[in-house]
Amino acid sequence: MIVKDIIEYMEKYAPSKLAEKWDNVGLMTGDENKEVKRVLIALDAVESVIDEAVEKKCDMIITHHPLIFSAPKSVTASSPLGRKIIKLIKNDIAVFSAHTNLDIADGGTNGTLARLLGLRSIENLCPPEGDFKEGLGKIGIIDRTSFEDFAEKVKKVLKMERITVSKNKDEASKVAICTGKGGGSKYMLLAKQKGCDVYITGDVGYHEAQFAQDIGLSVIDATHYCTEVIIIPVLREYLSQINEVEFIESEIFAQALNII
Ligand code: FE
Repeated sequence: MIVKDIIEYMEKYAPSKLAEKWDNVGLMTGDENKEVKRVLIALDAVESVIDEAVEKKCDMIITHHPLIFSAPKSVTASSPLGRKIIKLIKNDIAVFSAHTNLDIADGGTNGTLARLLGLRSIENLCPPEGDFKEGLGKIGIIDRTSFEDFAEKVKKVLKMERITVSKNKDEASKVAICTGKGGGSKYMLLAKQKGCDVYITGDVGYHEAQFAQDIGLSVIDATHYCTEVIIIPVLREYLSQINEVEFIESEIFAQALNII
């Protein structure tokens, strides 16, 4: 098995053509012909995750967020990104990232959260683009419950001790999901227009929460990290069909903002 073969499996799961136009997905560093025996799966290629890959003798890291987003003008040890790229190349570690294509693909972050929460009649939140059938975000039905009980369920499913909410309706029966950075008012408006009473996302800003209040949509900010890290075991399970390669989940807790 070489890097290119692993990429082919990832392409089947989350085709790169599904990615948003502004995104950067695919092989970020490394040689696609390099032999692979062990792969680390993580949400982000932060330096501690790269150190973990070196320590665990991994040949490749698969991440959700792209290692390289905007093109650097230089690769030197004087920038954090430069240091990471140098470390990856010195240790011959390939990095592959599946970002918005993994958000949009049915088995991706949004689909996974929808299934974990037991949503029924799952549909897209955003309309699909072009010939695709999948669009960003999911909506679905739950048994009518109080907003508080549903928020508790989200906490339990995502293994969180605390959660930030804006309660603007007493009940929850139709839920919208946009994992990661989905705090924008355009998604909230879409959720409201589609008849949802609750919207789950991460990175909700102050004014966006006020917008949700104005339109009468309850919002649960379950953090960017916790709404997306759920994809790691799902990817490991999917990739474990490749018998010759060992796939391991990163043990690094890489949520940059912690609640204490
Ligand atoms: Fe994200």
